[in-house]
Amino acid sequence: MASETETFAFQAEINQLLSLIINTFYSNKEIFLRELISNSSDALDKIRFESLTDKSKLDAQPELFIHIVPDKATNTLTLIDSGIGMTKSDLVNNLGTIARSGTKEFMEALAAGADVSMIGQFGVGFYSAYLVAERVVVTTKHNDDEQYVWESQAGGSFTVTRDDGEPLGRGTKITLYLKDDQLEYLEERRLKDLVKKHSEFISYPISLWTEKTTEKEISDDEDEEEKKDSEEGKVEEIDEEKEEKEKKKKKIKEVSHEWSLINKQKPIWMRKPEEITKEEYAAFYKSLTNDWEEHLAVKHFSVEGQLEFKAVLFVPKRAPFDLFDTRKKANNIKLYVRRVFIMDNCEELIPEWLSFVKGIVDSEDLPLNISRETLQQNKILKVIRKNLVKKSIELFFEIAENKEDYNKFYEAFSKNLKLGVHEDSTNRTKLSELLRYHSTKSGDELTSLKDYVTRMKEGQNDIYYITGESKKAVENSPFLERLKKKGYEVLFMVDAIDEYAIGQLKEFEGKKLVSATKEGLKLEDSEDEKKRKEELKEKFEGLCKVIKDVLGDRVEKVIVSDRVVDSPCCLVTGEYGWTANMERIMKAQALRDSSMGGYMSSKKTMEINPENAIMEELRKRADDDKNDKSVKDLVMLLFETSLLTSGFSLDDPNTFGTRIHRMLKLGLSIDEDEAADADDTDMPALEDDAGESKMEEVD
Ligand code: ADP
Repeated sequence: MASETETFAFQAEINQLLSLIINTFYSNKEIFLRELISNSSDALDKIRFESLTDKSKLDAQPELFIHIVPDKATNTLTLIDSGIGMTKSDLVNNLGTIARSGTKEFMEALAAGADVSMIGQFGVGFYSAYLVAERVVVTTKHNDDEQYVWESQAGGSFTVTRDDGEPLGRGTKITLYLKDDQLEYLEERRLKDLVKKHSEFISYPISLWTEKTTEKEISDDEDEEEKKDSEEGKVEEIDEEKEEKEKKKKKIKEVSHEWSLINKQKPIWMRKPEEITKEEYAAFYKSLTNDWEEHLAVKHFSVEGQLEFKAVLFVPKRAPFDLFDTRKKANNIKLYVRRVFIMDNCEELIPEWLSFVKGIVDSEDLPLNISRETLQQNKILKVIRKNLVKKSIELFFEIAENKEDYNKFYEAFSKNLKLGVHEDSTNRTKLSELLRYHSTKSGDELTSLKDYVTRMKEGQNDIYYITGESKKAVENSPFLERLKKKGYEVLFMVDAIDEYAIGQLKEFEGKKLVSATKEGLKLEDSEDEKKRKEELKEKFEGLCKVIKDVLGDRVEKVIVSDRVVDSPCCLVTGEYGWTANMERIMKAQALRDSSMGGYMSSKKTMEINPENAIMEELRKRADDDKNDKSVKDLVMLLFETSLLTSGFSLDDPNTFGTRIHRMLKLGLSIDEDEAADADDTDMPALEDDAGESKMEEVD
């Protein structure tokens, strides 16, 4: 009984991707083979992993292999693997109806000029088959289901049918009906070169179905026999002239087929590092990661003694598009046990902050049948992990020896380093040496903390930094005025994660890290200066009280500032609470636990600058009349302005706007009554004679 054929529509984005692949000209079509082989290798990994705990999973097909069969008679190229195969629902889901997260990103990358060879990184490598094929047929058998066949010529849909044809046992067979101009992929030489170039390090045997021609001397009689028998191999007569002479003997060419193994390399990590070229590492890196670019740096090492393992670690040139995507697999280190691949996202192997490091670990000591559950308690794994972290950090220091490379590295992975500073208390000090920042003195370059220390002024005891949204937002901040005047360098920490990292770091080479925007900024003064300040403090004590009364709970206290030189005032936060920047970051996190907000959110202290003309004027007015309404209004306006210049956000920007407009009118000498008639708005008065100002009701 013939099986029913079901037709499915490709998911919209996949369909778009297919038309892009089919209709755009790409010169690099050859990568399709690498992608399909890589899928086969993954499928083989999966069944091998299952078989470690249940040998019977291999029963249907005990051998693990990849076969490549070119057929010039039908212009087809077929890849067969004895991997895990796909159930019917796998087929429908994986090859067409469920879009991968990378589908859209890949199309965007292509539109932006990316090379089609990047396809593997985006998790849609299978579709590269359509670079060279007009029709693709996938036959597959999974242990848990019947054999099915998937077929499509793109064009919006594919079909899936139960397959009663030749049984695969287990695995997947992909037949590509090559386009007329792609027949080069039937040539043995071309296929061998391609496998060598892109798939050399696949750890399963890849065999090519090759044609072999042998010359054979036979007598005339034999020849007749031979001709009758040889249905398969073609027999050709050659050397007829010679044959004439030799009469009885003659040579014939006999064509036969056989499997020829085309990846013979032993695993690269088993070889001696000094015998491996950069090109070989690059080729290995590319096959391991699907990256189209070479690695930035590599570390190949082995640990011997109590415990034995070999590892190769790579740092890529750039961050992947989904570096901090939490849905993604945890890391990029493949775990092998005595050359057998075990798994590729073993969380215990490397901490999250190092998730960008790629590579392999091959342990001599772990049991082969290790399961995810037992991994968690495994002591051997803990030691391996410690070593991988140590070696990775060593590798980063090696990169740092070359400035250009390090800039590239830092641009791509500084967030990871900072996450490391935050999370890894053992290596925090070491990692802090790898940090780089812009500063008030670094210009376009970045500076290390070490270099900062060498530039510290005499009498400067602390390392100063300011956190904020961007370099632009902090470089002219009022908080820096005094520090700049004193010639003290201030580091700009403008990554959200800086707040977290610096919160853990606290000091560098015995020097305290001090925030320019928090309480507790103490700057050394000369005796004269100290005296002058004491006097100013006394003089402005009254005003401080008045301001605190006006602002109420909006601020914790009001004091005379030691850090502003030009601006009238600023708002600083408690030494142990959030900075303005942290408050911004926390507000932006939609899913944050709001209970933290209460006690962590910034307790603000208003610092006023006694040498600023506005403050001086305010002081006079306040001294004359404590209840001067203009004082109240101006204080509110100053408070709101310094919220902005200190990096906070306004809870009620409209009221602030209205106040500013009112000031504008005063400045332009527009009569308040006229203006009110004209636009009849309900404006808070700046100088409201009739009782309480409206502004104060607005919080
Ligand atoms: P990726 O391999 O990056 O996940 P692909 O588009 O290349 O993306 O493949 C999609 C999915 O189809 C794979 O994740 C896998 O589940 C399945 N698949 C592809 N090729 C094979 C194969 N040879 N054997 C078993 N499953 C396969």
